[in-house]
Amino acid sequence: MDRSYAVEIIYRGIFQKTLAKHISRGLVLAAAKEGKTGISFGRYGDSPERNGIPAKNFAIIAPDEVTLEESMAQYEPKQVDVTVVVDDTLCKGVESWAWYGLQPVNRLLGPGGKLVVTSMLGFDDLLKMIHAKDVPYELAIVRGIPSFSGLWVFKDDHTDVRILGTIARLVPEMLSLAAIEAAIRDEWKDELKVTSARKAYSRVETTVVPPGVGNPEQPYAFTLPGWREMPEGIAIRNIPMGGAITDPVTGQVGGYRAAVNPYFKKFTTRTMRPVIDFEKCIKCTLCWLQCPDSCFDVTPDGLYDVRMESCCGCGVCEAVCPIEHCITMVNESAFTDNRSQWEMWKADREGYRAWVAEKISARPERAHGFRLRGLYQEQIKALAAVGLAPGGEEKVGREDTTEASAGGA
Ligand code: SF4
Ligand code: SF4
Repeated sequence: MDRSYAVEIIYRGIFQKTLAKHISRGLVLAAAKEGKTGISFGRYGDSPERNGIPAKNFAIIAPDEVTLEESMAQYEPKQVDVTVVVDDTLCKGVESWAWYGLQPVNRLLGPGGKLVVTSMLGFDDLLKMIHAKDVPYELAIVRGIPSFSGLWVFKDDHTDVRILGTIARLVPEMLSLAAIEAAIRDEWKDELKVTSARKAYSRVETTVVPPGVGNPEQPYAFTLPGWREMPEGIAIRNIPMGGAITDPVTGQVGGYRAAVNPYFKKFTTRTMRPVIDFEKCIKCTLCWLQCPDSCFDVTPDGLYDVRMESCCGCGVCEAVCPIEHCITMVNESAFTDNRSQWEMWKADREGYRAWVAEKISARPERAHGFRLRGLYQEQIKALAAVGLAPGGEEKVGREDTTEASAGGA
């Protein structure tokens, strides 16, 4: 190892905060086991974190102190060797707290870099979400449902050590598996976690993604104003008033569409999205009233359509809708675009009915871990079955879960 290595961990703020910290800290502890050095830190602009908002941690590993200090002359790396994504829906892009617009999840990867995603999806499905890059990189899947703990409780499902074992496999010149194992023994004093890291090391699935392969959509771009264009006396422009909508089939003009800030598209916070069965809607307005982000457009025919560019996926609309399965939250990974459901329904009602039925029946399970008491424990058993132990014959850990101290420490 003759240079420093940079690893970024992209995670969902609060829900995965402790998990991300375990991964970046574990890398530095492992570096010390090999006589190397390192530093682990969170992205400055990501604090204060909010539920589900994309956020980042970094770990820099270096052969010696001088190389580390030289690397840290720039606080946030402009290029990384490994990007870890601990929730696959983040593959659609990330818009972090204090960032400006949507960014591809693989943006910082250099040529030949490694993108590690925890997912139950295959390479093709992930590449429908991950934006195409102009250099080749390696995509690695760590099998398992995303590890969502929720607020300040960390449920230990071994995702942290499985990621560490995977990184040892993908970048052996940075850290060996022996160093990772030694760090886990010292830090967690749990031989089962060592076993999990070793299994992840041997089971990781990888493919090389050539240039131009992936989601072809152009992520958000902007041009900074020059000094001649700076408007006087104002930093943030007003959002203009909303207006009426035109029905794509009848041409009828009416309803109301609230305007939203065009520069901040909050859909990257979303892990689930509402699917609406317009034929069940009784036009009670509760979803429109309760949506915290004013996402519902009132259509000319008096229905309520979600603006997917703005929906943060909080699930409030599903909770307040009085009609069963009129609004159903579905795993975000089941969708590839943000098009209007109402326009789809208007254009082809029969096709839309089939689309809704398919989406709400075949949806991969998804929750923030605290929707139902006991839900997370059930999900961890599923993880044991699909990720760690084929057939589910092995347990993940003591009593399946471990609750860390309050405060997410
Ligand atoms: S999930 Fe429903 S309530 Fe929440 S932001 Fe989206 S549309 Fe609004
Ligand atoms: S809450 Fe449900 S029934 Fe009421 S307007 Fe919204 S979608 Fe229709």
